[in-house]
Amino acid sequence: MIKNKKKGELIIISGPSGAGKGTVIKELLKKHDDIWLSISCTSREKRSGDVPNETYYFLTKKEFEVGIEENKFLEYATYNNNYYGTPKKQIKEKLDAGINVLLEIEVQGALKVKELIPEAICIFIMPPSMQELKKRLVKRGTESKEKILSRFKSAYQEINEITNYNYVVVNDNLLDAVNKVESILTSVKCRVDRIEELDLNTIEEEIHETLIELER
Ligand code: 5GP
Repeated sequence: MIKNKKKGELIIISGPSGAGKGTVIKELLKKHDDIWLSISCTSREKRSGDVPNETYYFLTKKEFEVGIEENKFLEYATYNNNYYGTPKKQIKEKLDAGINVLLEIEVQGALKVKELIPEAICIFIMPPSMQELKKRLVKRGTESKEKILSRFKSAYQEINEITNYNYVVVNDNLLDAVNKVESILTSVKCRVDRIEELDLNTIEEEIHETLIELER
């Protein structure tokens, strides 16, 4: 009677560094093996804890620019003087196979993807407060004071773009935040425009038969 579309959903998650996007995504992936996280390319330096080809594909600026010329990215952006980009390869393939694709990207890139693929689900993860954001950035301890300051300033700019997103989730408690993202994904699946087949004739027949039963 009602059949959902077989295509996967394209999910974009953004939010300032320190909002806890990474942790929310990790939890989400643990629970849902039908979500595939796209691995981005970047020209930024490796930080401690980064695993090459897992956290990112680490490229030199030159290599990244060759990728741009060869049209290898669905989108790319510069952030804190470094390139970040989503490789096109595999995304269409996964979506066509019914696998949900998750992009963890910043706001400029998210806007570009939204232009190309308007049905993408854009979720913005917010820290509970600016004080908490500062605490989380400092606690991370992997970067210099200048870099922390620069990330904090970028956070203001990113938060200004929040109205371009479809959903906002405040990450004051990890499990609540993950639950909210899951609820968003569940609600999207129930949207009428995500239904491939809505067999009104069958529904009408069933209503008719039930009415006859009731009137007996
Ligand atoms: P970080 O250096 O902390 O790993 O990431 C910095 C920012 O770049 C984060 O907001 C992250 O979401 C974003 N980012 C990561 N990969 C991509 C990408 O492929 N494209 C864009 N536009 N942003 C990305």
